[in-house]
Amino acid sequence: MPLQIFHRPEYDLITEGFDTFVKAGAVAEAIADMDPDTTDTTVELVPPTPATDGELAAVHGHDYLEALATGEPRDLAESNGLPWDPELLPTVAASTGGVRDAALTAWRTGAHTGSLSSGLHHAGVGGGAGFCTVNGLVVAARAVLDAGAGRVLVLDLDAHCGGGTAGLIDGIDGIEAVDVSVIGYDRYESRPDARLTLVAEPADYLPSIELALDSIDAPDGIDVVLYNAGMDPHEHAGGVRGITTQVLRDRERLVFEWAARVGVPVAFVLAGGYRSARFDLDDVARLHLLTVRAAARDAPATGGRSVERAGG
Ligand SMILES: [Zn+2]
Repeated sequence: MPLQIFHRPEYDLITEGFDTFVKAGAVAEAIADMDPDTTDTTVELVPPTPATDGELAAVHGHDYLEALATGEPRDLAESNGLPWDPELLPTVAASTGGVRDAALTAWRTGAHTGSLSSGLHHAGVGGGAGFCTVNGLVVAARAVLDAGAGRVLVLDLDAHCGGGTAGLIDGIDGIEAVDVSVIGYDRYESRPDARLTLVAEPADYLPSIELALDSIDAPDGIDVVLYNAGMDPHEHAGGVRGITTQVLRDRERLVFEWAARVGVPVAFVLAGGYRSARFDLDDVARLHLLTVRAAARDAPATGGRSVERAGG
């Protein structure tokens, strides 16, 4: 089956906005332009169903969601660090729905999926932070648990720490996080269900990820991995010197080889990755294609788990 990647134009309703709200379209175009001969699996862009008010309210507080809808109080409406826009809530509802549909599809079919969503892991119960508005990772993880899954792993390799996610999953049975970061923003106390590694040296980056993956207990018992595949560790996309395109290509291979080895489907999202003096939007989009290509290369030829799932 094709690699299904969720996207709709509503992800980018804030057209004059920050990279978080403009790059999905660029990545979608780059996917459409991909030479089909260079991947083992065809890639299909699929429109998701936007997240409902109920899904958002299960993760975020009422006052915060009101602020996102109305723009008031302004400091709460702009707690993500970006100017409020009347299209903010429809935009994040669309991209959050994409994460949820990717997660559910991966769980139901056993095949890798993705969503061109960004700006997720710093958002907490009562507000946004660090360009993140709604924590779509937690919305999606909860949806998969509600559908009957027992264990969801959030694998967070964005440059920054996923403190929003760690706070939101505290006390929820069935959701755990493994987080390898290179920048200490939004760091938190590592604990058994949210394990954070902050890497100091670029040379330690891939070995630390390998170690973090290898330390996961009984990985074949995970139902689905939600992969926050930020490209912002890259030295020209917001990260640190020495983490190059080749390092991130190797990272994606490592992640998807691990997933294949333990037999777990991955639903990935774009997460961080930013324009700079050295990097335009096309460069950022090309970096995100590293994830798409790695997922397409390792996508099972058929929905391997669907038969098994049908019985249970
Ligand atoms: Zn980041």
